[in-house]
Amino acid sequence: MEEIKNEKGGVSVSTEHIFPVIKQWLYSEKEIFLRELVSNASDAVTKHKRLVSLSEAEESKEPYKITVRVDKELKTITVSDNGIGMSAEDIKKYICQIALSGALDFIEKYEGKGAADGGIIGHFGLGFYSAFMVADTVDVISRSYKDEPSVKWVCDDSGNYEFSAADKEERGTDVILHVNSDNEEYLSDYKLKEVLNKYCAFMPVPIFFESAEAEKEAKKKKADKKDGDTQSDEPPKPINDTCPLWQKNPSECTEEEYKEFYQKVFNDYKEPLFHIHINADYPLNFKGILYFPRLHSEFDNMEGQVKLYYNQVFVADNIKEVIPDYMLMLKGVLDCPDMPLNVSRSYLQNNGYVSKITAHIVKKVTDKLNSLMNTEREKYETLWKDIKLFAEYACLRDRKFYDKVKGALLFEKTDGKMITVDEYLENSKSKHENIIYYTNDAVSQAQYLAMFDSAGIEVIVLDKIIDTQFITVIEQDKNIKFTRIDSEIATALKGDGEKVESKELEDLFKKVSGNEKLKVVFESLKDSSVPAILNVSEQSRRFEEMMKIYSMGNSAETPSMTEATLILNSESSLIKKLIENPEEKVAKQLYTLTLLSQRKLTADELRSFLSESFGILEKSF
Ligand code: ADP
Repeated sequence: MEEIKNEKGGVSVSTEHIFPVIKQWLYSEKEIFLRELVSNASDAVTKHKRLVSLSEAEESKEPYKITVRVDKELKTITVSDNGIGMSAEDIKKYICQIALSGALDFIEKYEGKGAADGGIIGHFGLGFYSAFMVADTVDVISRSYKDEPSVKWVCDDSGNYEFSAADKEERGTDVILHVNSDNEEYLSDYKLKEVLNKYCAFMPVPIFFESAEAEKEAKKKKADKKDGDTQSDEPPKPINDTCPLWQKNPSECTEEEYKEFYQKVFNDYKEPLFHIHINADYPLNFKGILYFPRLHSEFDNMEGQVKLYYNQVFVADNIKEVIPDYMLMLKGVLDCPDMPLNVSRSYLQNNGYVSKITAHIVKKVTDKLNSLMNTEREKYETLWKDIKLFAEYACLRDRKFYDKVKGALLFEKTDGKMITVDEYLENSKSKHENIIYYTNDAVSQAQYLAMFDSAGIEVIVLDKIIDTQFITVIEQDKNIKFTRIDSEIATALKGDGEKVESKELEDLFKKVSGNEKLKVVFESLKDSSVPAILNVSEQSRRFEEMMKIYSMGNSAETPSMTEATLILNSESSLIKKLIENPEEKVAKQLYTLTLLSQRKLTADELRSFLSESFGILEKSF
């Protein structure tokens, strides 16, 4: 057996490069030191398991575990494992040299660039030396699974180390950080647990948290208690779930488990609408669960959370390079063990593997929508209100998404029922073709709606700002037109009576409207109770709406009626009377009434409308 000689040294040639970089770089994300050390510990356990399975190491007598212990008084954080362990030779080989050379290219590339640059996705590859972001000295005490003496290695923050013999009996490694004065916040139980929960909640080896301070307090409490108190101590529980749901086979997971997992990970007690479990094999090799959160209103926080993991180790939230931006409102977890993480974001953007993952996610989401639509239509309809906004936005952002889900896009009709574009077109074939009639406000457009209803024409509701942009995607694709019910007279509304026209009345209406450009037409409408309606063409109204969105001028507040058409119904007895007797006051009043259903009256219009109405009332009895 080789004896451990007291030996001094310096951490290879790259010392002067690596330490300064580590200390200032990632300044904003110092906490990842814990992830790096705990994942090294977890790797050490995995390696031991593997050696056992190859009969190259004896089976472990103790259950595998990792312990993170904090001691506020000693100012230390210790990460211990009972994994493979290291001999003095191993430490020289793996810690003093190799680890550095592995990280070297990377360090050289980023040396001098501040933390703010934050080019690296996972900051992986920094490994063991990230300990020096918070510690001024790090001790490693280790005993290898091989029959070799245990060893202690102490390294300071300029890279000078010292080996000595240790008296560690059990297999495994303790990494002890002597936390420097700038980073004492990490000596708080709360802070450390928070960091562990963030990064290590799903690591594959049980992790136990210990605090010297908490132990002292517990001891004191126990001593204070009377002798008769026989309450037994509960065995400590690991802080992590070593077998997260996404690693299981979807066929073995229950609905209840999916819901529980969602609540636990996202602290969201609103039940998600549904989930998608992704289990992609070779060549993609990634797993994950995506949830559709329940949104209660248009104003709900749309910000989702998709957590990226690397072999059960948390890397980051909402990586835009992997998940299309329109999917970022989903909540979920993705574990991508083949993801190149120690590369820059721009590299990821152009990486073939990453774009395949993205495409796979889009496919899974669209497959799910289609399968719900085709096999559980009733349930799908109840969910649609919450999915709608997401689906419409996704279609606007990504034409491929639209192409994949176009059969599963629903519209709500004024009677509350749901319908697809194709179903609408099929239903209305006999009355009109390639037009979908819609209302954006069933209350103010009630009169138009009543006419469409009585003619048996289906009307859908498009009342969100995004709707008007979204329908253009469908119009282009299907070569159809969405037409608001107050923008044109549907053929089916027209009766077969003879049109009676009057030039005199036409001129009178132009005069009372104060708009010389007002188009006045005579139509014979089926519904004789409606004397006149005012239409504004779809095209010019959309143009005005667009101007409003881009706020080009305030004029759009009261839409200009330049493109308006006043339709006089020659079936109406009032119009018949007016043709015979073109009474200006009545024409003015009638015009204002039609105007009411298109827009709000101005103060002047309203005042004169009211006083005229009072006059009419007085005369009516
Ligand atoms: P990486 O983990 O990326 O290889 P690190 O700098 O974190 O880089 O670690 C370098 C090497 O040191 C590891 O590959 C491993 O061989 C060894 N090592 C680190 N921590 C431990 C540990 N707790 N137990 C056993 N070996 C370890």
